[in-house]
Amino acid sequence: MMQEPVNELQPFERAMVVIAHPDDAEFMAAGTVATWTRQGKQVVYVVCTNGDKGSSDPEMVPARLATIREAEQRAACAALGVSDVVFLEYPDQYLQNTLELRRDIARQIRRFRPDVVICQDPVRHLTGRFLNHPDHRNAGDATLDAVFPSARDYHAFPELIAEGFMPHKALQVLVGMGGGDEANLWIDISESIDQKIEAVRQHKSQFTNTDGLEERVKEGARRTAGERGMQYAEAFRYLRLR
Ligand SMILES: [Zn+2]
Repeated sequence: MMQEPVNELQPFERAMVVIAHPDDAEFMAAGTVATWTRQGKQVVYVVCTNGDKGSSDPEMVPARLATIREAEQRAACAALGVSDVVFLEYPDQYLQNTLELRRDIARQIRRFRPDVVICQDPVRHLTGRFLNHPDHRNAGDATLDAVFPSARDYHAFPELIAEGFMPHKALQVLVGMGGGDEANLWIDISESIDQKIEAVRQHKSQFTNTDGLEERVKEGARRTAGERGMQYAEAFRYLRLR
């Protein structure tokens, strides 16, 4: 179903991006993140898994890959002006929307107190000719459940209160859509496309070679922009909570 387009977000100061794997945020939202940090907004990342299965090289040791991917994510965050990155260290590919994951995300929401949360699509199984990764769906699901109701409600997860994390309402949620039909918000990233490319490029373990990478990122962002009067864009489903 087509959604009514949203022109802009309510004013905000802090945003949090929650993703399953190192590199997910760069493809989904790095242009948006760079646009916001340039405007002086604070952006933090929460990465649910360590990405330790993300190699087809049988010689690669998963623990070593996790270390490499953490460093790559930190380099990408530096390129985008992201102020903090938290790794929840769940194993790659086994991510489930458990109460434990929901609590761990709610803890970070209560800690950083974002006005805006960006997460992955919890619904989509099929992306054009591709399958969406189960970790992406489960990270999206757990994040939405953490935003509402668990970060918000005092009596949810009393251990968080015991740790000193008071309830917090994040009122605006952006679900990353790629080119999905359910998008209702397109953010113009024409000014920050080079930063997005630079951030994607940091995930070196994920590319056998980076030839044509710049053009691929630009082509994707151009397709997302479509006929909306922007050169490059990222697309989201925007939710405004109360
Ligand atoms: Zn991923």
